[in-house]
Amino acid sequence: DWQQWLASSVAGLHSRSLFRMLRPTVPGLSAVEASMSQADIDAWVEGRQPASTTLPSLADCTDLRTIKLFSLNDYLGLSTHPAVRQAAANAALLCGNGPRSSALVGGYTHWHAQLERALARLKGTQDCLLFPTGFAANLAVAAALCHDGNVTVLSDELNHASIVDGVALARRRGAQLLVYRHNDLAHLEQLLKEDVPPGSRTLVITDSLFSMDGDFADLRGLAALKRRHNFLLVVDEAHATLVCGPNGGGAAEMLGVTADVDLHVGTLSKACGCLGGFVACSSAWKDLLVNRGRAQVYSTALPVPVVAAALAAIRVAEEEPWRRQHVWRLARRLGRELGVPVSSPIVPLLVGTEQAAMDASMQLLRCGFHVPAIRPPTVPAGTSRLRVSLSAAHTDDDLRRLTSALRGCGLRFQPWKQAQGEAGS
Ligand code: PMP
Repeated sequence: DWQQWLASSVAGLHSRSLFRMLRPTVPGLSAVEASMSQADIDAWVEGRQPASTTLPSLADCTDLRTIKLFSLNDYLGLSTHPAVRQAAANAALLCGNGPRSSALVGGYTHWHAQLERALARLKGTQDCLLFPTGFAANLAVAAALCHDGNVTVLSDELNHASIVDGVALARRRGAQLLVYRHNDLAHLEQLLKEDVPPGSRTLVITDSLFSMDGDFADLRGLAALKRRHNFLLVVDEAHATLVCGPNGGGAAEMLGVTADVDLHVGTLSKACGCLGGFVACSSAWKDLLVNRGRAQVYSTALPVPVVAAALAAIRVAEEEPWRRQHVWRLARRLGRELGVPVSSPIVPLLVGTEQAAMDASMQLLRCGFHVPAIRPPTVPAGTSRLRVSLSAAHTDDDLRRLTSALRGCGLRFQPWKQAQGEAGS
């Protein structure tokens, strides 16, 4: 029966026990919350008057319960930036919380239009379309581009789950799927030459910065291949937006191939420190997505405070370029100190077995650092790892203390494949 099935399905799921363990240990999700008393947090959440009426600043986070989080995607530390918090609060006071309907029906405001313009400018594209999440953006793109079925999709084997699911939707509409070995452009070219049926439209889709390995897709190689084989190139820049490139435009900007990418998928939930997804593209592609991207058409628009916060975050990232430089400097320093190759602010430390990764993560937590263990099925068996996510909110001292805690784990980090791509923004 269902209860028995449920009990056996959840038995032994590590995430469940890890989550339970973390909650009492980490009173909140940010360093700011971690410095507040539990009574004050409860009061804020429940809308009562807290004992302390002002939010503490990051500088106040000195008490012993503070856990340094190396587990977030807040690469520029913008989620708690005062200007971002203020923008969200102002918008909430002015407009309330909900957009109250989908964008097409009535949920599209001038805030949404402004954010789309700001993202198009950031990405160097003609236009942009917002989505409820980055996951929804990938679902919508794959399904919309493949709606008539006459498409062959070539997808990197390590692409994000949202791309995998989007392509599964496309297959239900008759698209053919070919998976190429991770970043192996020779394999991709072989598939393009030998396995794409004549007359089929061709789409190549890849993450730009791979979230579990911290390496980059060879976007320059893909751009050259595109000139020879004439495919549509879709790049998911979830982790690279605002982090890479001289203006934070992403890995495409960093590698000088912005114009070779047809659709730039992104999320507001990582370096932007908010929530939401987007696709930056030409107006014609936007028209298609507005009509055929069901995950956008039939979903409620983003809340105005979130949109206002994202706009503020993009502005801060522009005005404070030190944030991008700082997070890259931290990444290079961590690599140097641990003797591991580092390509980006996502630093995987390969441990091997699930148990070793879990044990190391627990030991770090006891030392005051949250560094998650990433295990199968997210990564292949035998490659369980600690995943260090760096942020501009981390100080040099945070990094020094993390490094010594990592050394204290007594782990020998296994040789990690030399990541492709280029280190440096
Ligand atoms: N693409 C990639 C590469 C991601 O890592 C993620 C988030 N983990 C997403 C898309 C989905 O973004 P969101 O969290 O906005 O749904």
